[in-house]
Amino acid sequence: MTQIKLLSLDGRELTLEQEVEDLRGRLRGSLVDPTAPEYENVRQIWNAMIDRRPGLFVRCAGAADVLHAVRFARQYRLLTAVRGGGHNIAGSALCNGGLVIDVAPMRSVRIDPWERIAEVEPGATLGDFDREAQAFGLATPLGINSTTGVAGLTLGGGFGWLSRKYGMTIDNLIGADVVTAAGELERANERENPDLFWGIRGGGGNLGVVTSFRFRLHEVGPEVFAGLVVHPYERAGELLRRYRELAAAAADDLALWVILRKAPPLPFLPPAVHGREVVVFALCHVGRPGGGEQAVASLRALGEPHGIHAGPMPFVEWQSAFDPLLTPGARNYWKSHNLTNLSDQLIDLTVRYAGQLPTPQCEIFFGQVGGAIKRVPADAMAYPHRNADFVMNVHTRWDDPIEDAGCVAWAREFFEATAPHATGGVYVNFIPEDEERVRAAYGSNYGRLTELKQRYDPENLFRINQNIAIKVLA
Ligand SMILES: Cc1cc2nc3c(=O)[nH]c(=O)nc-3n(C[C@H](O)[C@H](O)[C@H](O)COP(=O)(O)OP(=O)(O)OC[C@H]3O[C@@H](n4cnc5c(N)ncnc54)[C@H](O)[C@@H]3O)c2cc1C
Repeated sequence: MTQIKLLSLDGRELTLEQEVEDLRGRLRGSLVDPTAPEYENVRQIWNAMIDRRPGLFVRCAGAADVLHAVRFARQYRLLTAVRGGGHNIAGSALCNGGLVIDVAPMRSVRIDPWERIAEVEPGATLGDFDREAQAFGLATPLGINSTTGVAGLTLGGGFGWLSRKYGMTIDNLIGADVVTAAGELERANERENPDLFWGIRGGGGNLGVVTSFRFRLHEVGPEVFAGLVVHPYERAGELLRRYRELAAAAADDLALWVILRKAPPLPFLPPAVHGREVVVFALCHVGRPGGGEQAVASLRALGEPHGIHAGPMPFVEWQSAFDPLLTPGARNYWKSHNLTNLSDQLIDLTVRYAGQLPTPQCEIFFGQVGGAIKRVPADAMAYPHRNADFVMNVHTRWDDPIEDAGCVAWAREFFEATAPHATGGVYVNFIPEDEERVRAAYGSNYGRLTELKQRYDPENLFRINQNIAIKVLA
């Protein structure tokens, strides 16, 4: 029998032995402690900047394991983190010295093509979900990188290529099963526990552990019109001003994003351009035939592009098109603003800072949102930022720890310089580890979320997240 040391919520170190063995006996999944050979592997998450050593992982095989894990955490008042896909930039999937309720092994996705509904377990990735749903020509809006976890993405809101047409991921969530801090499984939907349902749609992991999500699906593809139009960086200021007009005129069928970065060695770009700063327009059109071609023609007409790679392609392929640039294991630091317009000053600052990228993997992107997202009232569910037209992400990425300070400083400086041109709101899933912007993330819904937190998690058991601070009675 191994002695396991675990931190409690009030910072004491507990030594548990028989208690852990009893838990092991109740599980269908497994326990991984620091002496296990797979421990080093299991504690890796997407962002290599995060180096945390949990005391114990409960690798859950199903909802029953989650129930046992939450009851165990509650009984011994353990510092507890919850891991889905492990992609969160802040590293909130892990905690030092505490318990991790790891739902990553729960990856089942079941599509009901007749009712157009998906039942998705919380360890599923976006790729798992898309591949199952696309076998039936169906999809729901998710993010742009196929290895991201459905769980964390959904609980924070979720947006991607389909969101202007079909809304955020949460706008398509029709129910969930949640293990609350009381150690009970609750059903949350419009009729049952509607408050809990309201709160998990944007309130992150604050209110419990989701063991199953239920999504509405739409007919998509299986081919969509998507691709990239890459222009010279030398005209970036003018191109971003024209982009502002094209984005404003775009129908909801079209999502038009722009990325400033150094050109990867893509085969459709001349070798001389590889490694040089470029302006990349990325588009996805889901709708009437001809709409995608028209969008590409408008982007081509902006000047003399270095290269174009666009056309009909399987939606699943487009959903993983950016994966090679977003592989796990690199060091990453993000700063993000919500924007309602791209002011001239913001554009000028963007061009200046994009000309000084600290490493070849860094980028600044503007994700176009709006459309259907805006047609949902800000208080309809916990996610509040319905007014945003763009989400800007300053994505700093590098490999060598020696570059930490320079990369972080560049991102912070650009972020500060552009803050006066932003709404002040931020997407909860884009906040780095060192940033206290929880109120900005939950915005006008913070008050109601605080009441729900008090009701569903009065001890703040679920605190390793963008945490809704409540007074915890001793
Ligand atoms: C490369 C990359 C691309 C991205 N692109 C997009 C994008 O296009 N659109 C977008 O909206 N977001 C995007 N994101 C952000 C993404 O939504 C967040 O990183 C999200 O937190 C990932 O969820 P996860 O389950 O993988 O993360 P994890 O780190 O496992 O979980 C994050 C947090 O969610 C909570 N959580 C996880 N699972 C559960 C559960 N079952 N029950 C309760 N709480 C839980 C926990 O608090 C946990 O700390 C991207 C992230 C990355 C790294």
